[in-house]
Amino acid sequence: MADVKFCVFCGRPPESKNKEHVLPQWLLKLTGDPNRVVSMGYNYKSRTEISFSWKSLVTPACEACNTEYASLEGEVRPIIEALLERDYLSVANYCTLLDWLDKVRVGLWLNYHLLMGNPTGITPSFYINSRLRKKDRFVAIYPTQEKNAGLNAHGVETLSFHGAPSAFGLRINNIFLINCSSDYIFSGRCGFPSPANMQLHLDGESSGYLQMENFKSTRKIKSPIFKFQLHKPSVFLLQPIMQSVISDIDQSTTILGGSPARDPYLLASTMKGMQPGVGKIYRQFKDHVARLDDESAKIRFDTITGSECKPAGQLVSQVYELQTYLQGIYSPLTENLETRKHWNQRQKIMKQLNRSISKSYINASSPKR
Ligand SMILES: [Zn+2]
Repeated sequence: MADVKFCVFCGRPPESKNKEHVLPQWLLKLTGDPNRVVSMGYNYKSRTEISFSWKSLVTPACEACNTEYASLEGEVRPIIEALLERDYLSVANYCTLLDWLDKVRVGLWLNYHLLMGNPTGITPSFYINSRLRKKDRFVAIYPTQEKNAGLNAHGVETLSFHGAPSAFGLRINNIFLINCSSDYIFSGRCGFPSPANMQLHLDGESSGYLQMENFKSTRKIKSPIFKFQLHKPSVFLLQPIMQSVISDIDQSTTILGGSPARDPYLLASTMKGMQPGVGKIYRQFKDHVARLDDESAKIRFDTITGSECKPAGQLVSQVYELQTYLQGIYSPLTENLETRKHWNQRQKIMKQLNRSISKSYINASSPKR
């Protein structure tokens, strides 16, 4: 990877030769030999597994960014260790975990982009800084029976992920996490303002821009918060995040759809001490939702029993189904019929690829007949 000319965090040209490990050394050591070559998903073109050394997964970063993110790594380490022990964590800890997952997800996206020779022909238009704590996000946590140590990322190899790094799975030894972050995927169901329409400009001056209109808010929580149904996780935490636009004229920030400074419901539903509009964390239980107001409150693992226990392959397959679901949330906007046709074809291919990967995971995990 000699040709990397941007810092993964801020996107500016890195002024020094700092190397950032997308997945930190401590995590590699925790999950096996840090020099090992591992499988990381599936190459849909050659129908082979992608394998390489985790340790080689480095990209340049500015010194300032590196230092800033090193502290996040320091904070998250005991959190991951607690998860592996099925120990409780605080709401604030989980907020840190969500930040870290934003970092890893976007970092892997930028890396894959380079590693796989840019299969979708995109130029990265955002970096880790611009996706950290910026869109609705969640983490679903599944303890597994896995006896062997190991680290695997799932879903980062798909065309769908290349288009938008919205959802991925991360297995760390005997724990499996599904992490997702995308535009307004459940803000509305937390009672936050949410656009009735989201349309993606496919061409013209606004190409790649998501047009969002008719913001409405119900000020009521609806269960389930997230409509896509996951197998029951031991911990399922969701955080709505209001988006902002920055004025070109005076650089002022406007939160879309409403302001926590003026709306008591939003004030009560957002966190203090963060950028305005970052929602509190909501916990989804089987039949109800709780907004977690106390940041020091302990979150314990819910037990999963009987038919709620799913084989690892079924848990992993959800990542691919989730990516397909997320693709359908916004509609394309173009006057050009050819462009629309091309878009539709691509959507279809992405869907088929994800379906076939999902199926292969399910088949691999079902008992042989
Ligand atoms: Zn930087």
